[in-house]
Amino acid sequence: MPEKINTKGLTVKKDEDMPEWYTQVILKSELADYSAVKGCAVIRPLGYDLWQSIMDYFNIRLKALGVRNAYFPLFIPESFFAKEADHVEGFAPEVAWVEQKSKDEERLALRPTSETVMYDSYAKWIRSHRDLPLLINQWCNIVRWEVKDVKLFLRSREFLWQEGHCVFETEHETDEHVLTIIKEYQKLSEELLAVPATIGLKSEKETFAGAKRTYTIEQFMPDGKALQAGTSHNLGQGFAKAFNITYKGKDEQEHEPWQASWGFSTRLLGAIIMTHGDDKGLVLPPRIAPIKAVIIPITKASDKSSTEKVLAAAKKIHDELGKAGIAAHLDDRDEHSPGFKYNEWELKGVPIRIEVGPKDVAQDACVLVKRNDGKKQSVKITEAKKVIPLLLDAMQQELLAAARKRAQAMMVLANDYESLRRLLKEKKFVLVHHCGGEECEDDIKADTEGATTRCRPLGEDEPDPGAICVRCGKPAKYKIIFGRNY
Ligand SMILES: [Zn+2]
Repeated sequence: MPEKINTKGLTVKKDEDMPEWYTQVILKSELADYSAVKGCAVIRPLGYDLWQSIMDYFNIRLKALGVRNAYFPLFIPESFFAKEADHVEGFAPEVAWVEQKSKDEERLALRPTSETVMYDSYAKWIRSHRDLPLLINQWCNIVRWEVKDVKLFLRSREFLWQEGHCVFETEHETDEHVLTIIKEYQKLSEELLAVPATIGLKSEKETFAGAKRTYTIEQFMPDGKALQAGTSHNLGQGFAKAFNITYKGKDEQEHEPWQASWGFSTRLLGAIIMTHGDDKGLVLPPRIAPIKAVIIPITKASDKSSTEKVLAAAKKIHDELGKAGIAAHLDDRDEHSPGFKYNEWELKGVPIRIEVGPKDVAQDACVLVKRNDGKKQSVKITEAKKVIPLLLDAMQQELLAAARKRAQAMMVLANDYESLRRLLKEKKFVLVHHCGGEECEDDIKADTEGATTRCRPLGEDEPDPGAICVRCGKPAKYKIIFGRNY
């Protein structure tokens, strides 16, 4: 028999043991669960609600950019991988293969990413410059087999993501597109999730297998680890060559197009939890919260007439909020005390709690409590629908501002190697001059217990004149952020 999940309050504090806190928040708030399938997780309805909010938000953005959704097979023939040398090498260790039933059948992989299977189709579809740009996205699951230990939302063998795959005539168009997308990711992160995100280029070593350039958004978590939350790649013409994608240009000649791919995953949910959660549990940014407000009647079983009045008022609030388009939930379960309900909804991160007791009803009022700071205010019941949207907006802004302040305080400059080492130990993200050499990056990683380059922050990576690499002393190619990561 599997062990039942204990949904009672958290037993650890966030800043004392963040990994344990993180797991408890997810399990007890019922966002996700482990599965009997090794390396895999279950996304429960509350977690899926959040993913759905992200999909809803991003589908609107995709439409505005002219990108359409489509669906390609889960299986990728082995020969497709072999076509692009860097790509096959980059993904070889993490590919899961389907058992062959006969020797004549080609071996099939479960997609670790879909470049190859999509571009085989693109080669058939693209004929002339009139077919470009081709802008396609798919929402799907992918499989990366190397993962053994699940870290809910952050690392699992199978996870959900979106992957955009677009084709252009010129390098310039492709570059512009790749940047447009990474800025959309930053906007999604900051506007919807209230998680600040830094845009930058990856070093050559960290560039996607088969790509010319990779942009990333990096989110800086309170425990001093960075989360690579989305990437956007200029793939150059390598895949076009490998998959024979050509188009007839305006000049009537055959040309090889340029390609871009980009994606973010359910990791974003991990960022929300770590960034905003507190010792009481989850704190959901209002814009992504499936329930914006929970109404809790404060009743006494011994006083029947007062209970009836309180419940009637609670129902009235629920109806009025519903009519105003505010997603509210009335928790009128009579087997639990108000205090029990407060704890439970705080654990689940609902942005606003509405308390209605006999004293409030006597004044036609209710009490609104904000989840992020516990601030209370009493309002007339008829005013609640006007005040709540303002509180939700304020809370969304407060969460982003608090997260930004914390992330900025973690970002520091270092001019010499000893400072870099010391600051990494202090769980900072450190901007340094670097030569761009892969071996030099490996050397720093080995010497600092795993710090890697996160990104060259956009517009802030220009090296100072005459600057040298903080580690090897060669001329610096750029400024780059080092840090630990998930
Ligand atoms: Zn160096």
